[in-house]
Amino acid sequence: MRLARLWIPSLGGSRYAREVGEEWHWLAGDPTSLPGPDSPVEGRVARAQARLLAPLRPGKIVCIGRNYAAHARELGNDVPREPTLFLKPPSSVIGPGDFIERPTHLSSLVHHEGELAVIVGATLRHVSESGAWDGIFGYTCANDVTARDLQRSDQIFTRAKGFDTFCPLGPAIVTPDELPDPHGLALRVTVDGEIRQSGHTGDMIFRIPTLLSYISSIMTLEPGDVVLTGTPAGVGPLEAGQRVTVDVDGIGELSNLVRNRPTL
Ligand code: ZN
Repeated sequence: MRLARLWIPSLGGSRYAREVGEEWHWLAGDPTSLPGPDSPVEGRVARAQARLLAPLRPGKIVCIGRNYAAHARELGNDVPREPTLFLKPPSSVIGPGDFIERPTHLSSLVHHEGELAVIVGATLRHVSESGAWDGIFGYTCANDVTARDLQRSDQIFTRAKGFDTFCPLGPAIVTPDELPDPHGLALRVTVDGEIRQSGHTGDMIFRIPTLLSYISSIMTLEPGDVVLTGTPAGVGPLEAGQRVTVDVDGIGELSNLVRNRPTL
């Protein structure tokens, strides 16, 4: 099943929607929590006419650093012995088509990091690796936008990773029945059509069940939390006016334009 969150003009609000052929069928119910399998259909809209929002507003966003060996090396880091965790704030989330804003008052080097995102669907605390699969609601594309100059100068990643607009998610959530092997996916990032990152989720150092088990031994994962699984090699700068697109097999393209943050 493919799910998106749509803006429904006639409601003046958003709804989850299921993809059916060339249409989205939008579902009754509160769009601030993930829909159940039995949510009734409330209306329909042609896919070409739908406006997609970020597929969810996560509770928390847990990110994995250095989870692809070639990317760890390109930043001059060793390959880690255990997963490296940091958090991005939910306020950094934007949807497909929204602007990534370069915070030029503090940073002059903003990088893209295309990643596979895991949407948590259950409460996970000290979950085993084999039990972790049942806690996955689905997958989407993410761009872990990073102020690389601040990441280098700061002891911790809060500033570098936490600016508004630094977590594009989307376009849709694909559930595991349609994407049974999340480690069999090519992942590409293009900037203005030029390939910057071309990786494969099979190259993750720590795989998804290991990550969920490890994270859940530290903090409880809850429905609507998101885990960004790390980026392959090829990260690079984003300039105002460019278009960056993250494309993961079976999920689709998450595309955003870049601009400098307007002065307040
Ligand atoms: Zn990342």
